[in-house]
Amino acid sequence: MTLALNEKYSRQILYAGIGPEGQQRLLQSSAVIVGCGAIGAATANLLVRAGVGRLRIVDRDFVEPSNLQRQILFDEADAQDALPKAVAAERKLQSLNSDSQVEGVVADLNAKNARELLSGFALILDGTDNFETRFLVNDFAVDSGTPWIYAAAVASYGITLVIRPEKTACLACLLEAAGNCGLQETCDTVGVLGPIVNLIASLQAAEALKLLSGNESSLHGRLVSCDAWTGRFQSVQPERDSTCRACARREFPYLQGQAQPHITMCGRDSVQIHEHTRALDLAALENRLAATIPNVRQNGFLLRFRASPYEMTVFSDGRAILKGTKDPAVARSLYAKYIGS
Ligand SMILES: [Zn+2]
Repeated sequence: MTLALNEKYSRQILYAGIGPEGQQRLLQSSAVIVGCGAIGAATANLLVRAGVGRLRIVDRDFVEPSNLQRQILFDEADAQDALPKAVAAERKLQSLNSDSQVEGVVADLNAKNARELLSGFALILDGTDNFETRFLVNDFAVDSGTPWIYAAAVASYGITLVIRPEKTACLACLLEAAGNCGLQETCDTVGVLGPIVNLIASLQAAEALKLLSGNESSLHGRLVSCDAWTGRFQSVQPERDSTCRACARREFPYLQGQAQPHITMCGRDSVQIHEHTRALDLAALENRLAATIPNVRQNGFLLRFRASPYEMTVFSDGRAILKGTKDPAVARSLYAKYIGS
């Protein structure tokens, strides 16, 4: 290890749990984060600063002013420019540590692209805002034997668990047997505090550092839940379910695309259209729409315009987010009208 490297990570190397060997392993390690909202951004920040060698960030959304209260990688200019979160995160993270190879991918993780986007990484981290995507990640992780870390927060409450296929309970063991669907409220209906998402991200990142530095024996294996407002902390040891659909019977409906695709966006007054997977020429679309619609904006990654009372954001992969409706039929007809069917 070079002297400069030693200096950069000196306090982490001094820590007995990491040491020079652990640091070397971190620099050679890799992880993929699914979703770069508050938890994803905070986890990515910690892992890149710690020297994780390769990090991919997959996110479908763009930066908005309401994100800035808790999503620590983004600033007002990112929101002003409506940059995709994956693009803004890659830029910021790369400026924090040039030892890490950071790759932002603007995409909605689904059954069609999950294997391509998640394969080849030592660890998958949960930064998503919905259970459809978490069960898809769980299906891929159990099928491929890749560890992943579940993490979620809403209001002042959060929860996290390391899932190691064959060794620990999986998300389906935890939630499907009990008929429990996890946190029902969403950040867009009951709000969320910055401190809880950063606390949960810190707990997630600590377990990630253990796994990626070769300290598997230090994983505590517990489902941790905490409330940053009341100060209540709890942890339990989840049991594997011997009849589990995923890790016992090896049935993966989310990975096979049999589960319902998610079209509504996390309780927001928005619908996502993602049946269209053809590439769009955003500059050409801008020219065409500008003839009839004022204020069409395009930044190379996405195009946005208002067709009152709706606002449409179209990505270059053909995906669109329609704000102002929760009705998929309305969203589809607007898409056909402005973008084409
Ligand atoms: Zn299971």
